[in-house]
Amino acid sequence: MTARKFTVLLTLTTFVLAASAVADEYLNGIKWETPKVVTPGTNGSPPSDAVVLFDGKGLSEWDNQNWKVENGEMVAARGDIRSKKSFGDCQLHIEWSAPVPAKGEGQGRGNSGLFLMNTYEIQILDSYKNETYHDGQAGAIYKQTPPQVNAMRPPGKWNSYDIIWTAPRFNDDGSLKSPAYITAIHNGVLILNHFELKGDTPFTRPPQYKKHADRLPIRLQDHGNPVRFRNIWVREIGAAKGEQAEPPFLRDGKGNKKPIK
Ligand code: MG
Repeated sequence: MTARKFTVLLTLTTFVLAASAVADEYLNGIKWETPKVVTPGTNGSPPSDAVVLFDGKGLSEWDNQNWKVENGEMVAARGDIRSKKSFGDCQLHIEWSAPVPAKGEGQGRGNSGLFLMNTYEIQILDSYKNETYHDGQAGAIYKQTPPQVNAMRPPGKWNSYDIIWTAPRFNDDGSLKSPAYITAIHNGVLILNHFELKGDTPFTRPPQYKKHADRLPIRLQDHGNPVRFRNIWVREIGAAKGEQAEPPFLRDGKGNKKPIK
């Protein structure tokens, strides 16, 4: 490189550096709390801040001791089962397996259900090559919407649901302030994307919202089929916390604050 070329390059570099040094930076003025450290799980184990509802050892977290525990798995029997702990907004992981050999058809085959807040059912059903009404198949919000796709594994194989749940909010007079939302992933496949629930999920009437507590148990349905469950955990969730310490502003390269025009 000639001395002249070197001088030109040096001048250009200096100009670029100087230009970048004086660019204004946007700052939002929010003083954020430090996000809590969570150690992720490995090979299916729950993250460090999860509330474990079933890890294969027993039914101590549940109210119905009629359900069986076999080979580290919970098996549906004699009535619905509810968690002793209550939850509002949450992330939930659950694994389930339809009975083998498959018996019955339609709603009669491998039927259970996961009720968020004891009230809102995402269907659990053996929907592997099993026709039924679409808003009643596995991954449906019962009688409200089918899943976007059918990501079902065959009977005897393990399915997982990973669910993000936003609880409904109610006004003091009992009216609805904001509806419930659900995002659900079935075996790694998105099936419900921020779906807005129309209310509860009964068989006999349209959905409706009725004011209830901020937190309620998780319920698993006994529909007369020995559906198996394992690895159930829940994380309580909430937005990052911070306070608006000052209005948003710009900061120039020398550290001086400038208002946003
Ligand atoms: Mg069901």
